[in-house]
Amino acid sequence: MTRTGRAAVMVGTNQDLEIRKLPLPEVQKGCILVRVKCCTICGSDVLAWLGRKRAPVPMILGHEIVGEIVELGEGVSMDSGNRTLKVGDRITWTIMDNCGKCFYCREKGLMMKCLHLKKYGHDSCADPPHFVGGFAEYCYISPGTCVIRVPDDLTDEEAAPANCALATVVAGWEAADLKPFENVLIQGAGALGFYAAALAKHHGCRRIIVTDILPNRLEAIRAFGATHAINASSLSDDDLIGKVLGLTDGFGVDAVMEVAGIPSIVPVGLKCLRTGGRYIEHGITFPGAPVTFDFFDLVFRCLTIRGVHNYDTRHLQAGVDFLSQTKETFPFQNLVTDRFPLEKIDQAIQLARSGKAIRVAVIP
Ligand SMILES: [Zn+2]
Ligand SMILES: [Zn+2]
Repeated sequence: MTRTGRAAVMVGTNQDLEIRKLPLPEVQKGCILVRVKCCTICGSDVLAWLGRKRAPVPMILGHEIVGEIVELGEGVSMDSGNRTLKVGDRITWTIMDNCGKCFYCREKGLMMKCLHLKKYGHDSCADPPHFVGGFAEYCYISPGTCVIRVPDDLTDEEAAPANCALATVVAGWEAADLKPFENVLIQGAGALGFYAAALAKHHGCRRIIVTDILPNRLEAIRAFGATHAINASSLSDDDLIGKVLGLTDGFGVDAVMEVAGIPSIVPVGLKCLRTGGRYIEHGITFPGAPVTFDFFDLVFRCLTIRGVHNYDTRHLQAGVDFLSQTKETFPFQNLVTDRFPLEKIDQAIQLARSGKAIRVAVIP
């Protein structure tokens, strides 16, 4: 008899997901079948559901996943860090499966732009192995994926956002090239902002300034290292810029990390940079986001603007290590604020969409 598993399938944008029973795949060489233990809802899941980014239906959304190994394919005995893998182990894995051989994988070190890229929670589930997203009881991991065994000291909920929110911020952190005692502005107190603040604190930044418009998030991010949490809703752009300059001896911050995904705040962030500063754009992951900025300022003040989309495999390992190393310092367990079973996936998406929760978890 064919084994089956349940999945929440998106059949069209802006409509309820369908809970379907789908046949489980035979586990092929180099592959892994996991039982999904926890999948957190990323902002990009909501964007796909709303139809604001590519979404080939039918599809199973969800890519911030922790799973428990059910079956290992032939030849799989170690994770990407050479740690042994066995049935029952908890693992996380890169958002992407990349070929390792194409122009971007081999020549340019941009594996997230692989010419043969597959992404969990982003591709159609019409054909076998079907289970290629996290809002399901199972997920099937293909050989081009970097797999990491989750350390025992991390809970499922602490580890789940590592493979998108955290790894992406680690990639951005590397691009921002911040040194101890430098100052950073983080635009956005969502999950990425919380991780960015924690990284800045861990690395000894002096001023860790965060802007958002939600008071509860601004309050919560202080425990993650923010030295100044500013509510931008009551300030004009000029006042906000003045405030940031005032906190940095009139010079401006060394780097800005934009993690809110709001085009209109980009020029404000650029004006908060000191001469020679770096602007790291993470948040705008959807098309139709033009920004107006006087490029004389870019040239004259020697600014750098860098787009960071997803990450390299090393950033996921660094993210998991960071969680494990600093979990006594930062309350990562507080990032997941709400939990839903698979049957209540629509409610979960609505809550994630509302912005009231930091991360919503689906426990299939
Ligand atoms: Zn994501
Ligand atoms: Zn490739």
